Amino acid sequence: MDIIRRVDEMMRWVRERHAAGEEIGVVPTMGYLHEGHLSLCRLSLADGGHTVATIFVNPTQFGPGEDLARYPRDEERDLKMLRELGISAVFMPTPEQVYPPDYVTYVDTAGPSQGWCGATRPIHFRGVTTIVAQLFHITQPNRAYFGQKDAQQVAVLKQMVRDLKFPIEVIVGETVREPDGLAMSSRNVYLTAEDRQVALVISRALQLGRSLYEEGERSGERLTEAMRSVIAAEPNVRLDYIGVVNRRSFRAADVVLPMDLFIGAIYVGNCRLIDNLDVCPKVYPLRD
Ligand code: AMP
Repeated sequence: MDIIRRVDEMMRWVRERHAAGEEIGVVPTMGYLHEGHLSLCRLSLADGGHTVATIFVNPTQFGPGEDLARYPRDEERDLKMLRELGISAVFMPTPEQVYPPDYVTYVDTAGPSQGWCGATRPIHFRGVTTIVAQLFHITQPNRAYFGQKDAQQVAVLKQMVRDLKFPIEVIVGETVREPDGLAMSSRNVYLTAEDRQVALVISRALQLGRSLYEEGERSGERLTEAMRSVIAAEPNVRLDYIGVVNRRSFRAADVVLPMDLFIGAIYVGNCRLIDNLDVCPKVYPLRD
């Protein structure tokens, strides 16, 4: 496995592979890897060609007062996990290369980036599109793999790929969960043992949304209210948002359709957690 820390070196590596007619799949991450990240690498490995994982804690997607400084990192452990998977290369650039002191160019977003995480974290998606556009240019992938865990990010990035005509297939991997239902996240290390139990309320609330839908409820407002009351019953949680949306536009659904998504974000202790659940898991293929 090649460990590449320089942008020019990564671009040379990519040029050589493409010149040899080989395809590339890229898995962008912020490191502190878990099974969710590895599942995306496995999807890419199964698609053939080269798999390149990127590890970069992207400062432009963190707002002031967010957890950039304390975001968990463990380079050695990440590299060991990736080596065991058998991917071709890891790209881990320094912040100075990605954002030199005179850096001023950003990929602006609207549409699916508005509301929800976009309301709570106003500069977040602009940071995400900017880093992913850079990573796409540097790694020139045929395919890029993202997790459904970050469903709004998926909608924003698919929109960017369409709008900016990136010749890249976006492939979405299912959310990997702990046995008790908590969606895996690098940020779960912030949770104390008690917080960890409390955090389960979010997947419980989303599951209730799905059960009520299965029982015939179709009103977005009533489903949202029901999910909200599950969160409200848990005293150690602060609700950021909960709702049901169209998975492409991220507009709230008035009349809920099978391909819509239940989404939520909560604060537990000093940690913000997000999760989502397909309204109806069977009818909508993730690989669209
Ligand atoms: P991050 O390192 O948190 O920025 O995540 C890197 C990629 O892994 C993103 O595409 C995430 O959506 C994806 N990811 C994070 N957690 C999970 C999970 N539990 N299951 C599936 N994919 C995930």
